[in-house]
Amino acid sequence: MMSSLPPSSYLIIGAGVFGASTALHLKRSDSTATISLVDGGPLPNTSAASHDINKIIRADYEDVFWMRIALEAIHQWKNNPIYKPYYHKTGMVYAEDMGIARKVIENFKTLCGASPSNIMSVEEAKSSFNGVFSDGNWTGVKESYWSPETGWAEADHALKSVIQAALDHGVSYRESAVQKLIIDKHGICSGIITESGTKMMADHIILCTGARTAQLLASSAPHNKDIQTGGRLVAAGAVSCAARLPAPQRDLFQAAPVLFNAMEHTRGESLGPTKDGVLKFNSELSFTNNVYHEESDQMISIPPTAQSQRTWSQDVPQILKDDVRRVMTNTYGKQVEGIEVESYRMCWDSLTPNQDWILSPHPKVRNLYIAAGGSFHSWKFLPVIGSCVVKMLRGELDQEHARRWGWDRRDEGGANTVYEPGRDLGDITTHGDAAG
Ligand SMILES: Cc1cc2nc3c(=O)[nH]c(=O)nc-3n(C[C@H](O)[C@H](O)[C@H](O)COP(=O)(O)OP(=O)(O)OC[C@H]3O[C@@H](n4cnc5c(N)ncnc54)[C@H](O)[C@@H]3O)c2cc1C
Repeated sequence: MMSSLPPSSYLIIGAGVFGASTALHLKRSDSTATISLVDGGPLPNTSAASHDINKIIRADYEDVFWMRIALEAIHQWKNNPIYKPYYHKTGMVYAEDMGIARKVIENFKTLCGASPSNIMSVEEAKSSFNGVFSDGNWTGVKESYWSPETGWAEADHALKSVIQAALDHGVSYRESAVQKLIIDKHGICSGIITESGTKMMADHIILCTGARTAQLLASSAPHNKDIQTGGRLVAAGAVSCAARLPAPQRDLFQAAPVLFNAMEHTRGESLGPTKDGVLKFNSELSFTNNVYHEESDQMISIPPTAQSQRTWSQDVPQILKDDVRRVMTNTYGKQVEGIEVESYRMCWDSLTPNQDWILSPHPKVRNLYIAAGGSFHSWKFLPVIGSCVVKMLRGELDQEHARRWGWDRRDEGGANTVYEPGRDLGDITTHGDAAG
């Protein structure tokens, strides 16, 4: 049983999966609290990393810590009416040469007594699922891994469902872009100032601002490095594309599971098709967008200001379009020959050095809490993130969780190391387009 808090007011800034889930769980756990969810755009905000066609829902983690939380989330995806209508259990094939699959199977055995997943030979993967992967690029794949419990969720619909549930419980929504936090000289945060100059005050302010967290803290305390994120949360982008299958081809793809091809030649994922015949592909080759932040006189990675560079559009450098088109071709080969990509997207997330979240009170600012660090793998936790944040707010995280999700910590392990950014958008735009 959770202890009850005195009646309190909360501002949750950001309505992606971290903010929406926090709003719902917080209000459920304390019906007397006044909770406002604040976001800069109509919901779900199409600039948010959480906005998407679909996202992979899997428990296949090398780290038992994350597998345990993902299993809790998947239980909700399968059973809770808020999430269940949007979850599609398609299974997932993971093609790799690093032995990760065997580690994951061991983790399942440790946690569940048996593994629902198994090793699948390359030949079997190519001949299964209507043979849809038979012409993909399997070069160098030692073995593949079959995870029948994995699938994907309709991202926008599920996020909307959680936001609606929070509003139905009495959370209020304020559409406003936050310019800065109000932090006094004693290091106490009492509210926010919006871009239009309105002040909103509350007892507790929770930042669920994803890729914009570093910028917001730097703008709020431009001369105080102890308050800024430093390297703890870095905005990083990854590119996706969406292609629609012509109606006659849809039958062939109907049984297609998620394919995660971790080989150097591909490094990407395919999801779908959706009921409208849309296939989505992600490239794992992520990048920063380092720009000069004038107020704090430093370079910070910040998502681009142009909306078209944060949501579905054609406004993506050619080299990134080529990266993700390669994922498409390497997944399906001649099965997708001639199929046009309808739209591309640079999706911006906040990345921690070891991909563990930061769920923590800010150690230098009273009444301020951070819930961020999605690190390209956190959408699936939509059903459970909020309960973790509520525990953090109440000081009820156990030692391991508090240590792993702390603001200051010794980074260890790594939930999703494949996504570390190796380049910057500025360089890609300058050199990449010339080359591509
Ligand atoms: C290409 C790509 C593919 C991915 N695929 C998967 C996947 O298959 N499965 C999976 O589990 N995870 C996946 N992820 C990761 C997942 O999408 C993110 O980790 C997660 O959505 C992050 O959620 P968030 O709430 O932290 O941030 P966001 O969803 O970005 O939400 C932050 C919100 O804060 C608001 N905000 C920010 N600053 C302000 C401000 N100053 N004022 C007002 N509002 C503000 C924004 O408008 C936004 O709505 C993927 C990520 C990417 C980029």
